[in-house]
Amino acid sequence: MNAEQALSEFEIREKLHGNYDRSTFYRSFKTLEEHNVIHRINIDNQLVKYAFCAQQSHVNGHLHGHFYCRECHTVRCLDPMSGEAPVLPDGYSADETVIIVKGLCPVCRISN
Ligand SMILES: [Zn+2]
Ligand SMILES: [Zn+2]
Repeated sequence: MNAEQALSEFEIREKLHGNYDRSTFYRSFKTLEEHNVIHRINIDNQLVKYAFCAQQSHVNGHLHGHFYCRECHTVRCLDPMSGEAPVLPDGYSADETVIIVKGLCPVCRISN
């Protein structure tokens, strides 16, 4: 909860030191997700991050995107989008809409 960035399972495991149990991890995270306490961000097939839902934007249905820094691989939640979700053609149904902006964070921009 104190983390500013979204965390991967590996990063969470490091923070928990020895108190890590894989099945407990998945069970707790599933529960937290169901209660909209955290949300999962799939960056790609290799990288999944978890963020604390500070904005509660998933609860009231507003879509928010995420920023992924390609240098330091940090992920952070962006402010909820003002626009609507993309409109689908007839006959299509969406499960989720994922918006990931990739680029450089301020720290990496300065050092590049
Ligand atoms: Zn960065
Ligand atoms: Zn988020």
